[in-house]
Amino acid sequence: MTESTSYALDACPPADLPPFRLFRMTVSAIEDLTPSIRRFTFRGEDVEHFGDPGLDQRIKVILPAGGEAVGSATRTLPSASRLGPDSRCATATHQETASTFTTASTSPPNGGGAQMLDLNATAWAWASSLWDTPDWYGTWRAMDPSTRPVIRTYTTRAVRYERGEVDVDMVVHPPLRVAHGEPAYEGEHVKAADEEAEERGLGPAARWIRNARVGDEAMILGRNRYFVGDCGGQDFIAPALTEAFLIGGDETAAPAIARMMEELPASARGVAVVELPSDADCSYLPTHPGIEVRVFGRGDRPHGERLVAEVMRAAAELSPPGVAHEVEEIDIDHDILWEVPRHAKGGAALKRASLYTWLAGEAGAVKTLRRHLVAERGMDRRSVAFMGYWRLGRAEC
Ligand SMILES: Cc1cc2nc3c(=O)[nH]c(=O)nc-3n(C[C@H](O)[C@H](O)[C@H](O)COP(=O)(O)OP(=O)(O)OC[C@H]3O[C@@H](n4cnc5c(N)ncnc54)[C@H](O)[C@@H]3O)c2cc1C
Repeated sequence: MTESTSYALDACPPADLPPFRLFRMTVSAIEDLTPSIRRFTFRGEDVEHFGDPGLDQRIKVILPAGGEAVGSATRTLPSASRLGPDSRCATATHQETASTFTTASTSPPNGGGAQMLDLNATAWAWASSLWDTPDWYGTWRAMDPSTRPVIRTYTTRAVRYERGEVDVDMVVHPPLRVAHGEPAYEGEHVKAADEEAEERGLGPAARWIRNARVGDEAMILGRNRYFVGDCGGQDFIAPALTEAFLIGGDETAAPAIARMMEELPASARGVAVVELPSDADCSYLPTHPGIEVRVFGRGDRPHGERLVAEVMRAAAELSPPGVAHEVEEIDIDHDILWEVPRHAKGGAALKRASLYTWLAGEAGAVKTLRRHLVAERGMDRRSVAFMGYWRLGRAEC
């Protein structure tokens, strides 16, 4: 921590702090928790300032363009173009607090090779020097999309202030079909024919996750611990008096659900349903004394099939049918499915609820559950959060 940015927790922080700030990080440890979930421990000088309210608090991880690792020594990696031809970018903008926490529409980068790696390293060095400039995001947007760093959304899994460390659990997700101009996504993941084809089917974060080593650099846009007020970025907002919880998600939501299991009081009751890639991943989830954790390996079944069926089953167990409501259709291939009930002042929309539901994961599965729970079961929309964390066949932009 530098002299200029440090102050004691009980000292009065500056009034004009932004809600989020960039943290320059280095990978200090990598651990495969399960076959599909890899824990990255990041270490940074000023982690004391990293806000960690827990639950589903999201962060942005900023990585070198295309996911080529940049560290103490730049390595040569396979020179495939980095995104599959299907990498359509959302035209929707996922607006967060102020302008600092936004995903924007970009074109997919093309090209590859050693020259591109050099450019990436140069762009990364330049971009990472912007970390403390006020309009880093505007500068980032103005950069060439083919070489600027990529921004992806993750969840804070743990922070150890005494060691200056932040853990982020990242899914090692499989590549999509990418071959000879055929549609890259046909509803299923397939095994790539060779290593290069496999690399081509991965998003930049997935490439980075597979290739990163201790010593590699990244930046994290995280909450400012000393900001006074609601920073945003946390969507588990349960009524103060909640009789039961229904929590559901896939592997991308598993880190948030793990934190919920650790942080919800022992008196909490309910069911958590989690679909993970394989049975071997199921040990990832911690248990809770009052919330039954039902974890399923997907195996060869389509993504979300098990999650949808098991959440429907749990909903029927936990709440009687209500009055069905119409739901507006959402085009998840162009818009972001993100419905989080809040009070006008930011807190829970209701003071009490017999059931609070939090669902996150692949947008198609979340959309199916939204239709079922609201339009068919009549669940009260003021006590259910639906979040499309990612969309099959579409890159986060
Ligand atoms: C609030 C929030 C919190 C999140 N927290 C986490 C977290 O803690 N850990 C975590 O691992 N992920 C998390 N995610 C999901 C993560 O942001 C996405 O998986 C992200 O798209 C991965 O980026 P990428 O560069 O690998 O792929 P993109 O460039 O975004 O996409 C490239 C291709 O890969 C596909 N793809 C993307 N993600 C997956 C996946 N998981 N499985 C299969 N195919 C995929 C896309 O459909 C697309 O076709 C979170 C997302 C949100 C919105």
